[in-house]
Amino acid sequence: MNKTSNKRLAILGGQPAFPKQLHVGRPNVGNRERLLARINDMLDRDWLTNNGPFVGEFEQKVADLLGVKHCVCMCNGTVALEIAIRALGLHGEVIVPSFTFIATAHALQWQEITPVFCDIDPATHCMDPRKVEELITPRTTGIIGVHIWGRPCEVGALAEIAKRRGLKLMFDAAHAFGCSHDGKMIGGFGECEVFSFHATKFFNTFEGGAVTTNNDELAAKMRLMKNFGFAGMDKVIYIGTNGKMSEVSAAMGLTSLESLDEFIAANKANYDAYRRELESLPGLTMVRYDEGEKNNNQYIIVKVDESVFGLSRDELVHVLHAENVRARRYFYPGCHRMEPYRSYFPHAGLLLPETERLCQRVMSLPTGTAVGDPEIVKIAGIIRTALANAAAVKENITSVK
Ligand SMILES: *Cc1c(COP(=O)(O)O)cnc(C)c1O
Repeated sequence: MNKTSNKRLAILGGQPAFPKQLHVGRPNVGNRERLLARINDMLDRDWLTNNGPFVGEFEQKVADLLGVKHCVCMCNGTVALEIAIRALGLHGEVIVPSFTFIATAHALQWQEITPVFCDIDPATHCMDPRKVEELITPRTTGIIGVHIWGRPCEVGALAEIAKRRGLKLMFDAAHAFGCSHDGKMIGGFGECEVFSFHATKFFNTFEGGAVTTNNDELAAKMRLMKNFGFAGMDKVIYIGTNGKMSEVSAAMGLTSLESLDEFIAANKANYDAYRRELESLPGLTMVRYDEGEKNNNQYIIVKVDESVFGLSRDELVHVLHAENVRARRYFYPGCHRMEPYRSYFPHAGLLLPETERLCQRVMSLPTGTAVGDPEIVKIAGIIRTALANAAAVKENITSVK
């Protein structure tokens, strides 16, 4: 193969298409003046944390937006998961997908609850309810569904199993802020739902998270737990931790909320542009969303089928990285292949064939307000060139390895 025949790809000796790195998860920032004005107010008030007015306002606005009774803000999504799990009284074993961000599993193991990994439905990438039931043991106390890529999991089927088997059901909704299921906003399903407002999510409060619920008792318990169990000055009535959201994070949250529609519109335009550019390419499949529901479209998820495309997901990611497009392998290698789970359950993969397959095939491409049509056209150009020169690219990667 003549490697000099196409110098356009950096991997074949050309220049990177992008002079600077283009990352997945670049932060979306709303109106800077509005944010700075809020920070000034906060400094004038001398009230930086401990359930300040911005946190209160932000909680109310999020609860209204999601149509849920309570929104309890926290310092991040992981602590929000840990507190929700503890407040629900989960213990023993809890069924979760392995195809998720590691925090879903860690939030359980951190409190010595065993995450029992369930396989996914390849059509939705979410936990397969038909596989949940066979994992239930006398030690099982709950199920945590994850709305992966913002696509709601099979909420109804999971709720039916939970009810029939006497288990608590909650959701990791870290991907699903602003999404809906059956016309209802994500946030009100199960016992509670947990959001992340980390800087890499499309809607951020720098670091931050929240638990939403319609259960008054659960909300009250979580409010105690995130503030050391303080029920008043010098009065601790419960075991707690420090899970509080700071005022500066809430100021960012309030400012981000004002731009929420704009962020979602940018994501949707990018998603449509990627589809226009990539969908006709053989061996690539983009995750589809239900157009009848609200979606935040924050992830551009592409599945690479090597037998058709000619390059594996890893090889294509290699090509994109050489061009300064920092595509990510999500969720690679899967929670069950990370520590401590791989040592605890060395054979977990045998029960997770769909997870294993998908972990090898899926990548996430850059989007958000930092990316637009010109970048997407260029990224698609790289992918098309890689496809047209698959054999040479493969040979080159192998020789470099
Ligand atoms: C981001 C994320 C979390 C963790 O949230 P942090 O705010 O980063 O702690 C948990 N679960 C999923 C699925 C996530 O994507």
